[in-house]
Amino acid sequence: MTQFEDHPVLAGRGLVKRYGEVHALDGVDITVRAGDVVAIVGPSGSGKSSLLHVLSGVLPADGGEVFLSGKPITTLGETRRSLLRRSAFGFVFQSGLLVAELTAEENAALPLLLGGVARAEAIGAAREWLTRLGLDGLHRRRPGELSGGEAQRVAIARALVHRPRVVFADEPTGALDTRTGQEVVTSLLDAARQTGAAVVVVTHDQAVASRAQRIVELRDGRTSPVAAA
Ligand code: ADP
Ligand code: MG
Repeated sequence: MTQFEDHPVLAGRGLVKRYGEVHALDGVDITVRAGDVVAIVGPSGSGKSSLLHVLSGVLPADGGEVFLSGKPITTLGETRRSLLRRSAFGFVFQSGLLVAELTAEENAALPLLLGGVARAEAIGAAREWLTRLGLDGLHRRRPGELSGGEAQRVAIARALVHRPRVVFADEPTGALDTRTGQEVVTSLLDAARQTGAAVVVVTHDQAVASRAQRIVELRDGRTSPVAAA
């Protein structure tokens, strides 16, 4: 093993996030190893979304440091952080957040198109992912013509199409019924495993937690690690 491989793919150390008087994160440590599934659990308002935003560079931290493969990224300027977000990370939100005017395949191809990949190649890769996720025949539909579960699968394709190192998912099944939610989250974990991407997922779903290598429980912006099942 080289020195480089010793580093976790992503680590947060002493992360602090404040919104005015609210201490959303109050010194959080988290370690994500390559290919791991890390589940973040905790009551509403405990800081789960804030942790994802700070780890992924969507929001700057007010204290602490985030390391990607051992390199600090917290101090990068907005341009480089945004480039990093587009290349190294993928995102799945509670409800798709797909672009309404674009087809399923165009939505799924977005990270590649934004990264400068030629359109034919990007659409081709997106189609492969849509097929793998069971969306054959739906790739020209627009988000308004898809069910909630189908839209989440498009979001999963979009999160993985550029082969990110880490996929962040914030309550990805929160807007779905239990059964669809479990199918979608299973798809997400299986798809991530195919690419070797680590998954950091905020969830209340026991099925997800049971597949996690690590569960991080947040209470009032602080962590208490829980042994994975
Ligand atoms: P969770 O995702 O666990 O529900 P959040 O990270 O969204 O928790 O929120 C943590 C705390 O920070 C809560 O008290 C919430 O009200 C507060 N908070 C989150 N986002 C903002 C914001 N943009 N402005 C002010 N307070 C916020
Ligand atoms: Mg949240």
